[in-house]
Amino acid sequence: MHFSVLDLFTIGVGPSSSHTVGPMRAAARFANSLLNLPLTRLRCDLYGSLAATGKGHGTDRALLLGFLGHQPETVPIAKMDELLETVRSSRSLTLPDGRTLPFDEKTDLSFKRLKPLPRHPNGMHFLALGEGDTVLREDIVYSLGGGFIASEHELDHPPADSVERIPFPYDSAAELITLCASSGLTIAQLTLANEAEFRPEADTRQRLDAIWNTMQECVRNGCANEGILPGGLQVTRRARKLHQDLCHRNEAALADPLAILDWVNLYALAVNEENAAGGRVVTAPTNGAAGIIPAVLHFATRFRHSPHSDPVHRFLLTAGAIATLYKKNASLSGADVGCQGEVGVACSMAAAALVEFLGGSPQQAENAAEIGMEHNLGLTCDPVGGLVQIPCIERNAMGSVKAINAARLAMTGDGSHFVSLDKVIKTMRDTGRDMKSKYKETSRGGLAVNVVEC
Ligand code: SF4
Repeated sequence: MHFSVLDLFTIGVGPSSSHTVGPMRAAARFANSLLNLPLTRLRCDLYGSLAATGKGHGTDRALLLGFLGHQPETVPIAKMDELLETVRSSRSLTLPDGRTLPFDEKTDLSFKRLKPLPRHPNGMHFLALGEGDTVLREDIVYSLGGGFIASEHELDHPPADSVERIPFPYDSAAELITLCASSGLTIAQLTLANEAEFRPEADTRQRLDAIWNTMQECVRNGCANEGILPGGLQVTRRARKLHQDLCHRNEAALADPLAILDWVNLYALAVNEENAAGGRVVTAPTNGAAGIIPAVLHFATRFRHSPHSDPVHRFLLTAGAIATLYKKNASLSGADVGCQGEVGVACSMAAAALVEFLGGSPQQAENAAEIGMEHNLGLTCDPVGGLVQIPCIERNAMGSVKAINAARLAMTGDGSHFVSLDKVIKTMRDTGRDMKSKYKETSRGGLAVNVVEC
């Protein structure tokens, strides 16, 4: 079974792909499965990381909106607060089929803090109850990172939104590079050929345009919005002021050879502040790490020349191909392997994608992806206050700069190098498995306990 690389780029809502996007999808799917059942109540128990940091990540809000039938791609962002207030003040919710049920968050939504479910750290147990609290339907669903969800059954039997055959199947970076060499295609061209099994090429390109347009809109919004981010940490948004400063710099400032880095930082901060505020972002490959791909792509389109006629499409296709390697062979979930699975993967994706954008070879792209992860190995997930703000926002700026440097390092060579991307992906997975759970999106270790919340 193969899945589309476009699944790695969901146009969704902040602040977290695993704790917001996934739970909203899961709740909507469960709510839509209840037609004709004689329901009296609905409840959800959250386990593991979802229970530990779900409040800060907006999991409760996402579940309620999902029960109402909203999806991350289309939920009306400007109306979310109003929808939630209606549910909370009336202590009831209206299912997608029009029925209204009593719903009290205090009793019907439970954060089981110390009890992870066996198959993944992000577990949800949905229950549809009838008269006398008889269980009419129940489902255990895991949020796997990057907005992907799977029930227990689906983990054992992969769902059918994938295809059986693609022209260039691969499970490892070595296989991918071998296919590129034998076909004469770059990683982006090969990926585009594979995507043709899912939809016509014109549709793929249209979806890539929609992803890029949303990323640009997100940067614009981040540069326009100001104030304090929600959640109680009193974090002030910085992108707007930085943008104004950059736009008003005098000519002397151009003498600073690193001035471009200020722009890269700006793009990343803008996206991740929008994400922290619950705005519209593209999951790439997660929400916590959503700033790196747009920051590096903004850098590329504004400051670098590409020899290709479709450089943005190539960038995103290459980034998606690299992400599939991590999804297949490791994880995209901070709760599973720490921040190396979010910012580390995004850095690796962006590094390879920038090489493709600049006209580099598949071997150089693989080298860049390897460098991008190698120097993020061991990166923990320890969000202060359980919010996707500190260290997440700045970490995206750092990951973006690191990705650009990884691409530059790779393009000074011919693609041959000592540590393969496959080896570094395996090392990332093993390191994540060995990491104590307090460093994996539980806010029980690292900065989360050493920084006093204001
Ligand atoms: S520290 Fe990294 S993995 Fe954890 S929430 Fe922040 S961005 Fe995501």
